[in-house]
Amino acid sequence: MDTLWLRPPQTTRRDFLKIAGASLALLGLSQALTPRVVKALESTSGKPAVIWLEGQDCCGCTESFLNNLEPPAVSLLLDTISLRYHETAMTASGYQAEEARDATIAEGGYILVIEGSIPLADDGLYCTVGGKTFRDIVAETAQNAAAIICVGACATYGGIPAAGPTDAVGYLFRGTRKHHYYDDIVGEKPVINLPTCPLHNERLVAVIVHYLTFGTVPPLDAFNRPLAFYGTLQHDNCERRGHFDGGRFLTDWGDPAQRGWCLYLKGCRGPWAKQDCWKRLWNTRTSYCIASNTPCIGCSEPEFYETFSPLYKRQFDLEVPGLGRVDIDKIMVTLAGITAAGVGIDMLISRMQEGGKES
Ligand code: SF4
Repeated sequence: MDTLWLRPPQTTRRDFLKIAGASLALLGLSQALTPRVVKALESTSGKPAVIWLEGQDCCGCTESFLNNLEPPAVSLLLDTISLRYHETAMTASGYQAEEARDATIAEGGYILVIEGSIPLADDGLYCTVGGKTFRDIVAETAQNAAAIICVGACATYGGIPAAGPTDAVGYLFRGTRKHHYYDDIVGEKPVINLPTCPLHNERLVAVIVHYLTFGTVPPLDAFNRPLAFYGTLQHDNCERRGHFDGGRFLTDWGDPAQRGWCLYLKGCRGPWAKQDCWKRLWNTRTSYCIASNTPCIGCSEPEFYETFSPLYKRQFDLEVPGLGRVDIDKIMVTLAGITAAGVGIDMLISRMQEGGKES
């Protein structure tokens, strides 16, 4: 199978140590497990086969993953796993490529990575590869898989394609989308969802490392997302939270006085978004949406994209425990009169909770 790929420099032991340390930290596991992880990564006999499928998507998750620099993702993929099929990354095409996928399916026991949603309208004809619909390709490839990893919002929830006319679905569905298409084809197989748009490569590396080392998937939440990456709320960890609590909301991007203020009124979905972007950061730990002065678009959540659209507009009022929905406009009006007295939004909300009524 290796002849199907351009071969990059081999991953060194130093690289493996780095991957092991970073993955254990990511998963919240003890660094004492490093030797075990390195041993699993260095093993040449037990490299699991991986098939990576792409359906209705923009290829952004693949781009995100292949841009991994430390270590280079392609080295990692070729030296720690046996990547048998990936339409974008492999040099083979046509029958040779499809034969590689067929042979791997026949062997069984591989990891199936799914990127992109499945269009169901018109018998799935909006996305076909090698003369087969993506719907049929997923069904056929999922059958003998040992585990399935859905990468990105499209494969997980339907994402942006689900808001379009192709009746696109991901592994999880919301609202009136009752297809439950995956139920029939996945059965009892473990499914790990790694949403966000695009995939964060460190999350996928850590899940694969976990599987290689322990033969199991890490603890998951109700949406099959690893708790280690999706267990915290952006809003509770945001560097702008002090401005939210103080009632300082950005309304004018051009006003230098508002730099760094809370982006809630600009449509920030941070109060609903469970992820660890605030500490994970993107582009080799350079920045992330809110640090770049852009509201969180909630791409880790099932509401992304259709329900959260339009993205840069406030849609929802906040749910406050014991108080229900709080009208932020009323709070803003009230704050305008009392911030001079040093009362912030957090204090105002607790006063409202104590009074049991909205101000
Ligand atoms: Fe941060 Fe958004 Fe919460 Fe404001 S609303 S504190 S910008 S997560």
